[in-house]
Amino acid sequence: MMTGQQYVESLKRRKPRVFYKGKRLESPYEHPAILPHLRTASVTYDLARDPKHAEVMTATSHLTGKTVSRFTHLFWSVDDLVKKIGMLRLLGQETGTCFQRCVGLDGLNAIWSVTYEMDQAKGTDYHARFKAFLERVQREDLMSAGAMTDTKGDRSLPPWKQADPDLYVHIVERRKDGVVIRGAKTHITGAVNSHEILVMPTLGVPPEGADYAVACAIPIDAPGLTLVFGRQSNDERKEEEGIDCGTAFGVVGGESTLIFEDVFVPNERVFMAGEGDFAGLLVERFAAWHRANYGGCKAGNADVLLGATALLAEGSGTVGNAIVKDKLTEMVHMVETNFAGAIGSSALAKKLPAGNWLVDALLANTVKQNVTRFVYQVARLAHDIGGGILSTLPSDADFKNSEVGGLLKKYFAGKQGFSTDDKRKLVRYIEGMTSVSTLVEALHGAGSPQAQRIVMFRQANLQEKARLARKVLGLEGK
Ligand code: SF4
Repeated sequence: MMTGQQYVESLKRRKPRVFYKGKRLESPYEHPAILPHLRTASVTYDLARDPKHAEVMTATSHLTGKTVSRFTHLFWSVDDLVKKIGMLRLLGQETGTCFQRCVGLDGLNAIWSVTYEMDQAKGTDYHARFKAFLERVQREDLMSAGAMTDTKGDRSLPPWKQADPDLYVHIVERRKDGVVIRGAKTHITGAVNSHEILVMPTLGVPPEGADYAVACAIPIDAPGLTLVFGRQSNDERKEEEGIDCGTAFGVVGGESTLIFEDVFVPNERVFMAGEGDFAGLLVERFAAWHRANYGGCKAGNADVLLGATALLAEGSGTVGNAIVKDKLTEMVHMVETNFAGAIGSSALAKKLPAGNWLVDALLANTVKQNVTRFVYQVARLAHDIGGGILSTLPSDADFKNSEVGGLLKKYFAGKQGFSTDDKRKLVRYIEGMTSVSTLVEALHGAGSPQAQRIVMFRQANLQEKARLARKVLGLEGK
């Protein structure tokens, strides 16, 4: 397993084509907009090497018997799934933000399970190809980004009926030795600082849309692949130095739009090429695993946010107030509800034909549905307790100014003994972790709220519930 530093060096050996704010980045891994996300992902590597966290951060590879990062390990049991949620909470606590690596992890598990079933049904050889790829990911401790969401164009039309056929990633050419793909994927977490991009379909498709059912792995610097790094709330602050930048780890996952301009993918890296009837299954499984995650990582992030909010209240002398305590308790209640759901969905997991275990889809989708509400409510309470300073605090430059800085320090002082600089750091962290970028990520990441409700309704089995009601109430009729 690599150290965080080795991970950064391994990326610097690659030459991806990355754009940000209208310019091509010659050294993306040194750019202040990308560095925070690189540092956060580095923590996933460093903690895996720390014996104190070995149980939660590492696992034994079923392919080689060697110790591997849990971020490259398949879920072979309930225990693996529970440990994964524990790992996400730990990393959320250590970084206070998104550490990006879980999308690829869930993608690896989804492709493993679906290629197995596809081969059984269709006589293809995708599973063996994927096994070889996974072995390399584990051996080299690679970070894989999961690229699922297409740009989608006119959402009332399926991919193959769009005015521009490229609005969903699709196969434009089939060669003896591979396929050529074109299109774009957007909102892709941690893509710039990943070694590999796992391309997955965004939805199931009938035979006429077969070219849109494509899953494959593409190196970050593959010819024809361009990454455009997205903007975030307050992102220009990352290019400043000082307290206004927030923590070294930034906020959310450094998302990019990925443009595939006729990228050739050799056969050994192609794991689905036209099997539209299995594309939906892949999406569903990936989504279930990833939606459960949010009860782990967001709980870890909220632990830091809660701590920061309580400390800010302490600095203002309000933390002992019964109303403030009750609001903090309400935050705890929502965070632990999410965590409990993630653990519950793992505890009720079931074994798939390929041997790995899938979380309970109803609970996993309920976790994510709760996150779409609770993260906003937790943020609201943090705003409520933190006060107007969260949106009006003067800049770091003003605090450093020789004429006005001293006055600002005097008038922004809190409780005696509580440093004004610490107070400002708390304010900036809370501001970042309750910003539009953070909230929208919680709402739409791993699927928008309605996507969860569709699965929840399907999984809830209302007919069975009606049967129970009939029986208990002694109703007549069927
Ligand atoms: Fe992982 Fe959470 Fe970030 Fe998704 S939002 S990649 S689950 S840390």
